[in-house]
Amino acid sequence: MRKPFLAGNWKMNTNAKGAVALASGLVKELKTVTTVDVAVCVPFVYLQTVAASLSSSNIALGAQDVYFQPNGAFTGEISCEMLKDVCCTYVIIGHSERRHVIGETDELINKKVSAAISGGLLPIFCVGELLEERESGKTQQVVADQVRKGLAGINAEKIQAVTIAYEPVWAIGTGRTATAQQAQEVHEMIRGLLAKMYSPKIADAIRIQYGGSAKPSNTAELMKNPDVDGLLIGGASLKVDDFAAMVKTIA
Ligand code: PEP
Repeated sequence: MRKPFLAGNWKMNTNAKGAVALASGLVKELKTVTTVDVAVCVPFVYLQTVAASLSSSNIALGAQDVYFQPNGAFTGEISCEMLKDVCCTYVIIGHSERRHVIGETDELINKKVSAAISGGLLPIFCVGELLEERESGKTQQVVADQVRKGLAGINAEKIQAVTIAYEPVWAIGTGRTATAQQAQEVHEMIRGLLAKMYSPKIADAIRIQYGGSAKPSNTAELMKNPDVDGLLIGGASLKVDDFAAMVKTIA
């Protein structure tokens, strides 16, 4: 049985005061929740501050990216060791904004996934098709390709550290959520692919989150799907009431 997993992606939002208020508000609201894994993925500069707000709570801390090299002349980058040092458990890798705005490739994303696992972090590895790819019937092919390339060389033991987030790019931050059926179709395909790449048993244990304009009003519907094991939440994770309501709906 897969434990549901909700993660908030704060993206490039909040300030120091707002980050503490958001984290402390969630700690208060969610202190009795034990049946759902919860994480907040925070801008790098607020990780340490938010870690203090989350200490001794059941909410885990995550970052939104990581570099694959352990140290050295990589100006502006952050290593796995640094994230571990500020109490991160999770790291988002391959988010659509990094793929399509910053220009990250499947090859770079694969190096990051591999480095994160070796460095003791739990990657939330994101995949998802563009609107034109969906409209031209290429969704399954595009997502399968991203999964294969992003997980290349990740063995059966290492894959168990990974959560996959299916986030159709046309649904992220647009208010246009995938229907429960659209989400289930892709999640089912991903799980089938994992079964072929690894084994049915391993595929059955891996959590696959949906992301893309998830909010309190569509949480229950999305989570009814047998292969949707949680949500990666952008906009709605910036409001204590909304994010807490989504967690409680699932709990
Ligand atoms: C995201 O940032 O991963 C996301 C899904 O954003 P939103 O919920 O705002 O669509």
